[in-house]
Amino acid sequence: MTEVAVAGGLPAGPAESEWAAAVAAVRDLPADARVLLICHVNPDGDALGSMLGFGLGLRRLGVRDLQATFPGPPEVPEPFRWMPGVELLVPQDDTYPDPDLVICFDAASESRLGDLVGRLDTAGTSLVLDHHASNTGFGRINLVDPHAAATSVVALELLDRLGATLDAEVATGLYVALTTDTGSFRFEATTPAVHRMAARLLATGIRPGDISRRVFDTRPFGAVRLFGEVLGRATLEPAAAAGHGLVWTYATREDLVRHDQPAYVLEALIDSVRCTEEADVSCVIKQAGEAEWAVSLRSKGAVDVSAVAVALGGGGHRFAAGFTGRGALDELVGRIRAELATATLVAP
Ligand code: 5GP
Ligand code: MN
Repeated sequence: MTEVAVAGGLPAGPAESEWAAAVAAVRDLPADARVLLICHVNPDGDALGSMLGFGLGLRRLGVRDLQATFPGPPEVPEPFRWMPGVELLVPQDDTYPDPDLVICFDAASESRLGDLVGRLDTAGTSLVLDHHASNTGFGRINLVDPHAAATSVVALELLDRLGATLDAEVATGLYVALTTDTGSFRFEATTPAVHRMAARLLATGIRPGDISRRVFDTRPFGAVRLFGEVLGRATLEPAAAAGHGLVWTYATREDLVRHDQPAYVLEALIDSVRCTEEADVSCVIKQAGEAEWAVSLRSKGAVDVSAVAVALGGGGHRFAAGFTGRGALDELVGRIRAELATATLVAP
């Protein structure tokens, strides 16, 4: 059966020569090689899942000296703490200063690697696994496939080419990654190939019900109350985004303190906000510092939010993007409104 190309206009995936270089970079490692895996700051399910799943695959291939890390405080968000492979995680300051090979996961640019960016220069070689169309190609070897629904699609292909065993532990991380970035197989990126990959992963015996409950459907009661408050202050602006509509809300550090909640619980907030029928664009603004905000943007298809995020210093995908904004909240919302006014793909 013909498969419909859903991601028309995107750059092609990695060339055969790039795959061959990646396979050689891993296969030709000496027995005592030190390998460092890095994923992006504030890691999500795709970043952690693809990194830890791939890491366990490397273990199966005999890589002994292996560390995984991410920039910032070494706290794994609660929904991912149970994942096989978390034992590979090391705080960023304790990682090999000059690994033989560094592999980056789900990071579109070096800026997403925080203080770990220097490891790309001190490493023997570097390999980037990603699926953002905006990826800058910052590795020595770059496996970037904008058609891949998640970075774990690229990770599994490389494991296959390396002849690694796909067992339930390896599959768990790759499945968490795939379900995270496809919105549990709801988004446009959910191609026949995605379902075939899911079928392979499920055939290892992993339990999708348990995984989904832990990753998506388990929150402390305080987070439920916090969501109530933050959703209660959501604002709908039907005229914004050239008439396609904007819905937005914000959460401060004070909100988190009042409900005694860690910051990661806010990652799921955008999924409640973006349900809003009257708005094509949804936005959640999360306070990250005194005057610093982590902004999440989503679109239902009329607006290219990645263009908005790039214009404001961030990046992402056409329908899911983000950036870090500075200054007062109302000024920040003003900048978002202004960018949205010119970023439409479809006339209202
Ligand atoms: P989220 O809103 O879930 O944090 O991120 C959605 C998408 O936007 C992700 O694919 C991520 O790559 C991208 N993104 C989020 N925040 C940033 C940012 O600060 N900088 C860049 N370059 N991309 C971001
Ligand atoms: Mn991803």
